[in-house]
Amino acid sequence: MVACDKDKEKENVPIKISMPTKRKPKAKSSWVWSYFKPSANGEKTKYFCMPCSQDVHYGWSCSTGMLEHHLRSKHLKLYSDRCAECALEKIDRESKEKTSFQTSFSSFVTAFPNF
Ligand SMILES: [Zn+2]
Repeated sequence: MVACDKDKEKENVPIKISMPTKRKPKAKSSWVWSYFKPSANGEKTKYFCMPCSQDVHYGWSCSTGMLEHHLRSKHLKLYSDRCAECALEKIDRESKEKTSFQTSFSSFVTAFPNF
């Protein structure tokens, strides 16, 4: 009977499905989308460039390459700002990695002063 009770308990336990509240990043997660929105005409091959207030050919490739190219050629400042940001993020990440390595190394030296 004990086993039966245990089974019952199992059944009564509410199954909690904890869904992550974080929104999944959509496919269109590229940074270029901060400067573009879908064309007002509803043309799927064009996107509206906010900095120059006109439609930009997006192409059929469904890649953000065209838009990135547009930003690079027409809005170099925006583009380079963003690139600088990316570079800084990268440097920041790398320096953090370096710091953590140095920290673990110095603690190793402290643990073995004769090293
Ligand atoms: Zn533009």
